[in-house]
Amino acid sequence: MTIERLLLTGVFKPYGETDEYGEALCSMELLYNQVTREQGIHSPRSNNLSYGLYMLAENIDVPTTVLDFPSWEDFTREVDSAKYSHIGISFIVPNVLKARRMAEYIRAKSPRTKIILGGHGTAIAELDQLVDHDEVCRGEGVSWLRSYAGEELDRPIKHPILPSSVNSFIYGAPILGKAGILIPGVGCQNSCRFCATSHKFDHKYTSFLPAGRDVFNVCRESERQLGVMDFGVLDENFCKEPLRARQLLDEMTLEHKAYTFSIFSSADAVARLGVDFLVRLGVNFIWIGVESKAALFEKTRGVDLPGLIRDLQEHGITVLASAILFLEHHDKTTILEDIDWAIDLESDLLQFMQFSPMPGTRLHADYEAQGKIRHDYPWPRRHGQDTIWFDHPHFTPEESSDYLREAFEKKYQAGGPGVLNMAVTAIRGYLTAKREIAERSARGVTWDPSRLRYVAQGIPASDDFMMLRLEALRQNALKFRPALATMLRYAPNQMAANKTAKTIELYNDAFGKTGLLDQGRSVLVRGAAYLENRRVKKHGRVMRQPKLIRREYPGRSQTVTTQLQPAQLKEPAA
Ligand code: SF4
Repeated sequence: MTIERLLLTGVFKPYGETDEYGEALCSMELLYNQVTREQGIHSPRSNNLSYGLYMLAENIDVPTTVLDFPSWEDFTREVDSAKYSHIGISFIVPNVLKARRMAEYIRAKSPRTKIILGGHGTAIAELDQLVDHDEVCRGEGVSWLRSYAGEELDRPIKHPILPSSVNSFIYGAPILGKAGILIPGVGCQNSCRFCATSHKFDHKYTSFLPAGRDVFNVCRESERQLGVMDFGVLDENFCKEPLRARQLLDEMTLEHKAYTFSIFSSADAVARLGVDFLVRLGVNFIWIGVESKAALFEKTRGVDLPGLIRDLQEHGITVLASAILFLEHHDKTTILEDIDWAIDLESDLLQFMQFSPMPGTRLHADYEAQGKIRHDYPWPRRHGQDTIWFDHPHFTPEESSDYLREAFEKKYQAGGPGVLNMAVTAIRGYLTAKREIAERSARGVTWDPSRLRYVAQGIPASDDFMMLRLEALRQNALKFRPALATMLRYAPNQMAANKTAKTIELYNDAFGKTGLLDQGRSVLVRGAAYLENRRVKKHGRVMRQPKLIRREYPGRSQTVTTQLQPAQLKEPAA
């Protein structure tokens, strides 16, 4: 099929608002939506780009435009003003009605244009009845699109250079530190029954950046273009490919680059690699699916989760644990036991997600066969943060929403704001690294890359690479400092206030009195928090819609334009 001109677009704004097409609890923000939920102004806010669209545009030899975060007007203007032979719409399941409206518009205004649907939403079995289209991009998208366009499949992958998030705020103040994004590969072999990602990519892992050198080159290019040293790693199980991680560390050591990374990894893979290696690699944030104390999944069996999480935090690695509620064994007693168990792990951040039979998964097929799926449930509410949409023997949909909200509130009251926990982990990690580097140096203990551990050589030796890391850990800890006074001012309870006060002491002991610059920043954050708190009190919450990103790609070469629209600040009524 010849593609003359291609538009790749995400679904239209607004996000996180209840209307004909969308729903308030699906805000398209990861932390605010499902991790630091119920934490009010303490919740970090940001939007992640639709990375897949840029990845596709970079890797197809066709003039392509990417529209990310369009308003309805942006989208219709684009369709009206340019003759696209093909338009690809990417969407997740709860946004299927937005995709439908967009497809209807294309058919009405540009009937010769072929419509391609992509993203997790395409797993919906009733897709043909829901959204008018010509093609569905399934599985790994670059191969699919190249094949559809009749291009060579084995051309090397060109990784896009992108920030990991936009529209980032904390306490109503813009977050200054920026990170880039790495997409080393897609899919996961673990095949957990409920996992939409594993099923979407046919239970296998497809690597885009197979060697450590490939990952390093994207880091270096991102540093050059965006000035970033920190990266979000979009890969379901980065530690599952230990050779690549080891090669990446070798490259960074050789080139004296202390890049840092936020990764997803299963508990077994983390335990196998060990905390010393992860610290050396520069991991400063890790997402671990702990799921349930029942250890139903291979990835957590035999792993001392509390010990592992403590060890990671002690070494400066923020842990986001994720747990699932309304599993099949949950009744009104065991669900509360699981909530308490997950909270007692004392991870910095904790996601609770409803057990969700997402289309395309084995779980969905099983529940469909058993007649458990509630087909009349609205699509915009099928995202795991509202109510369950299947028959559970012990819970009605209505009460499932209360259990979920109360679980988030309990974590908040027991552990304090997630951002405070991250600050604690950051300063503890800096102090641990400083102490351990000095101890190892005095005892002549050095890193052995082949054994992934420190070994005694008996001769005092310096560790230049870990000194670079120490500076990265210091910078990471310092970025929280201007917000500490605000955390104290808005502490949700006495426990959180005491924890914040102790953290401030720890910072003062480690770095001395706050300098003038940080004092100024601290005043700004407090001022922003005051205003944000007033908005939240008045409206229940604040939604800032991300700006449009529009990029043109001439085809197998470089991006030529980036166009941003003015910020839109929208405060929905409570
Ligand atoms: S380990 Fe994680 S990414 Fe892999 S299949 Fe299980 S839930 Fe999905």
